[in-house]
Amino acid sequence: MPDVFAELVGQDDAVDTLRRAAASAAAVLRAAHLPAPSATADDPDDDLAALAEADEGAAAGSTGTAVDPGAGMTHAWIFTGPPGSGRSVAARAFAAALQCVHGTGCGTCPGCHTTLTGTHADVRLVAPEGLSIGVGEMRALVLRAASTPSGGRWQVVIIEDADRLTEAAGNALLKAVEEPPPRTVFLLCAPSTHPEDVSVTIRSRCRVVPLRQPSAAAVAEVLVRRDGIAPDVAQWAAAAAQGHVGRARRLARDPEARQRRDAVLAVPRRLTGVGTALDAASALIEAAEAEAAASVAESDATERAALQTALGAGGTGRGAAGATRGSAGQLKDLEKRQKSRATRAQRDALDRALVDLAGFYRDALTSALRAPVAPVHTDTAALAEAGGQKWAPEGALRRLEAVLECRAAIEANVKPRIAVEAMMLSLWRG
Ligand SMILES: [Zn+2]
Repeated sequence: MPDVFAELVGQDDAVDTLRRAAASAAAVLRAAHLPAPSATADDPDDDLAALAEADEGAAAGSTGTAVDPGAGMTHAWIFTGPPGSGRSVAARAFAAALQCVHGTGCGTCPGCHTTLTGTHADVRLVAPEGLSIGVGEMRALVLRAASTPSGGRWQVVIIEDADRLTEAAGNALLKAVEEPPPRTVFLLCAPSTHPEDVSVTIRSRCRVVPLRQPSAAAVAEVLVRRDGIAPDVAQWAAAAAQGHVGRARRLARDPEARQRRDAVLAVPRRLTGVGTALDAASALIEAAEAEAAASVAESDATERAALQTALGAGGTGRGAAGATRGSAGQLKDLEKRQKSRATRAQRDALDRALVDLAGFYRDALTSALRAPVAPVHTDTAALAEAGGQKWAPEGALRRLEAVLECRAAIEANVKPRIAVEAMMLSLWRG
């Protein structure tokens, strides 16, 4: 039976670290005689001492001294890696292992199961629905995270995209990470530990679990094994997705995702003048908008239905507390959050398109240089080769740089349409 870490593709080192930490965390709980849900924190001193020891071990490991860096449990973790490497998958798997009644992440017990399905009472997930995570949300979260775990194990807070914390939210989090309640564990996900992604002070309090970009072979293997995708399709999708597991699965399964990708990769040969360049820019922006709308439509509807059910039912527990605020207000809040998530989804979709386009020009460049490397996009390899011959390495490199500059400009808040138009003109002129 595959355990909770089976979803992590090509991340053997990280899985090893997390397994050992989960075992260590289970040992902490055993030492405190608190495996049963009903027995909550009777003897916090033992618990604290055991965890403090574990903390020391982890801190020593991160500074490179002779302690085994794989052992030990600590209160705060950062999962880093490129998009699609499985940061949030790793954080969820680790959360499940912490809540697992066997302490291993067996994948089948109620602790594992409820964590993975998002219904465990002691696991909270913060995913920024807008472009950033605000201070109000963070303060509320920190407050709740300080309570005693109802299941008798750990309070786990997963913060996806911790690089999108506002400064104030980061400070609120820092306070909690600096003086963590004895049973609270923070799991942060970020692209890297660069100070632009995670503040130096938060970073210094966390143990880092670096994830790699999984190889195309590892991604293809999991698509075949887990999703039952045909091997040739899996190989093509894994290469085209450039190590992004979720993207590979979408390309393999969703014909519309494939069509959007085809449209993006058709751009280079359509650039014949200023008019077509500007048309291509519009098409790219509109495709990103359409993709974003499709990707959020389902969760928007689910959330609205869930909220309406909660309001209609009068609610128990968490729902009842919120219901006092009035249903109109809640629906309005939800709409606001959904709108800001849509904006973010558009940016993400546009960025994926730009990554695909960069892959094409990278293929043209490597072909012009006669570099012995496999193309990113096998299905447009011939076209990229023709481009490489026509443009020579310098021209291919200039075009690749134009795509990368466009990504950087959008990241720096240049209006996407302007950045994309500038890029298309550069791609046409060369
Ligand atoms: Zn389990």
